[in-house]
Amino acid sequence: MRPWFSSVARRLALGASLGVVALTVIPNLSCAARSVSVAETESLRRLELLRVEIARHDDLYFRKAQPEISDADYDALKQELRELESRFGRRVPRDPAALRDMGDDRVSGFPKARHRMRMLSLEKTTTESGVRAFDQALRRLVKPPAEIAYVVEPKFDGLAISATYEEGRLVRLVTRGNGEEGDDVTAAAGRIRTLPPRLAGAAWPRVVEVRGEVFLTFAEFERINRGRRENGRPTFSSPRNLAVGTLKSLEPEDREVRQLDVVFFGLGAIDGHAAPASQTQLLEWIAQWGLPSVEDARRVDSIDDAWRAVQELGGRRSHLAFPIDGAVIKLDDAVGQTAAGVSEVAPRWAIAFKYAPARVGTRVRGVALQVGRTGVITPVAELEPVALAGARITRATLHNASEMERSDLRVGDFVWIERMGEIIPAVVAVDTAQRGTVSAPFVFPRDCPGCGALLVRALDDANWRCTNDDCPARQVRKVEHYVSDEGVGIRGLGAASVEALVRSQRVREIPDLYTLTAAEVTAHTRLSAAQAARVVDAIQRSRKAPLRRVIAGLGLPGIGPAGANALGARFADLPQFAAARESDLQQVEGLRPESVRALATALSAERTQQLLARLAAAGVGAQSATADAGTLAGKEVVFTGTLPTLSRRRATELVEEAGGRVADRVTAATWRLVAGRNPASKLHQATALGVPVIEEAELLRLAEAAPE
Ligand SMILES: [Zn+2]
Repeated sequence: MRPWFSSVARRLALGASLGVVALTVIPNLSCAARSVSVAETESLRRLELLRVEIARHDDLYFRKAQPEISDADYDALKQELRELESRFGRRVPRDPAALRDMGDDRVSGFPKARHRMRMLSLEKTTTESGVRAFDQALRRLVKPPAEIAYVVEPKFDGLAISATYEEGRLVRLVTRGNGEEGDDVTAAAGRIRTLPPRLAGAAWPRVVEVRGEVFLTFAEFERINRGRRENGRPTFSSPRNLAVGTLKSLEPEDREVRQLDVVFFGLGAIDGHAAPASQTQLLEWIAQWGLPSVEDARRVDSIDDAWRAVQELGGRRSHLAFPIDGAVIKLDDAVGQTAAGVSEVAPRWAIAFKYAPARVGTRVRGVALQVGRTGVITPVAELEPVALAGARITRATLHNASEMERSDLRVGDFVWIERMGEIIPAVVAVDTAQRGTVSAPFVFPRDCPGCGALLVRALDDANWRCTNDDCPARQVRKVEHYVSDEGVGIRGLGAASVEALVRSQRVREIPDLYTLTAAEVTAHTRLSAAQAARVVDAIQRSRKAPLRRVIAGLGLPGIGPAGANALGARFADLPQFAAARESDLQQVEGLRPESVRALATALSAERTQQLLARLAAAGVGAQSATADAGTLAGKEVVFTGTLPTLSRRRATELVEEAGGRVADRVTAATWRLVAGRNPASKLHQATALGVPVIEEAELLRLAEAAPE
């Protein structure tokens, strides 16, 4: 276990304390603290205790990366401390040095770098009255003639970062640290796919510190966790922990296949250039310099509109592609910002509104078992239906047998569920205090629900497994994986159709797909004749998929996307890959020794050899598939906004497989701009440059019109 890894086991084990300590005791004390009947000495003691506790949690979170409490509970502690401090006023000194140490992310193992200009934090509130009080205080400071214009931005949930560009080149990447000095993570810049090494154009400042947040998208978070679940490894608890860990990890293992993103929305030092006249102008400049800027920022003319924008963003938050934990309201006008000034740690012209965590309590009706592609059995809680972040939740993952034993979850228990974005909801805590008197420990079934075979579990394994290679439940998952975008990407063949084809025994293994006729597809699934014809067409086209995607689709043990890429580059075709011995695999760069051993064992199995031979006989993974000439050969494509069906990664692959390339910025060399929902400023640039704008459907048509 890496030191920064916050295991689900730990969170589940903490269930009782989360339920009792964090959710009950602290709010009670916080209420008590506001009441005058409590002796002042008690409050002073509480204040000291809070300072010690917060420092301890900061240490756990940033230096050990093993948080014990949720972010919301942590914020509640800080809020309580602030309230106590303001109540005692001058009688309790507010030690600015101690305050600045809050949220310090510095860890050992990194060189330290000083910020040219102090990197501030943000004042936070969780109530509408807090937002309005901020507006009133700001009015007293800047004395505006009328309403104040604000910019409302999403508050990204990641790690605060400062990037310094000199003469247009990225020279330093530093975390916030204590605001004065942070960890120099420049060496890890390559792990952030959206961080350009050079600024665009020529109108940038000679030296500029841009401030923003490094984060992980939900898609990337879920992709990494899915891979770990399939391989029986523990999953990560939040995109933010994983983002921090990926940026700060000193170990090379795994991190090459994780893709971080960055967004910029603030300014530190700026040299050889005028300062922006407003936050709106700063965001425009950031985009013009070719840096990723906030696409969802909105300028509003009053605090009423700002509050509406905050609520509107909150309503959309579970549909965003990235994690946010609040909204930031900033005074737009730079003159007003200067007049308002800064407090010890934060600007007085901005405030963060934190949304309530996407957590809800409900009861467990039963426990179902899901069989994975590799045979791993995942227990799933069947819940009393409950609404959470705009969705109706009926099931939540319980991770594995080991976590269930640790949490002692029982049917009938009251549990807390969390959900972030489109991620599968998870049980994060069991409230044993609400357990009835009639309750028995959960006994894990011993038979596979898919085939009835006896389940197997090694002593050090967190999972029970079905080891029957003919298990229909496993075959369904294998075929699903092969046809998914992580494999060869056969569009139109959904999970229900795959299941129907496997259950009918028409498709027992992946190669059976290639002999399917449209009539058979219609007979066994609910697809119409036209849909079936398109599916069969897509299956036939998938013969041309590059070897790396065929290998990725097979889901061989120890082989993730990066491993599949390396193998696809190493071997000419499927037969050559099938003939590889352990000594050949050792020559493949980037494969871990244990992956090489697992793969060599799998390849030596008669069953694998037969599977690969049947695929090769069907014309899959042949050398010609990787030929360069495609429909988009030599053409440059740029994406903006959210595409209706394709992930950005998959869309990029499609273009590259058709011989084209994908660029980040629209230039005169751009052939087409593909625009999705909420397009960014690239749309204006394309129009200005006369670059044709197309939609995803058109791209699919162009890319898949394979030359015969
Ligand atoms: Zn089975």
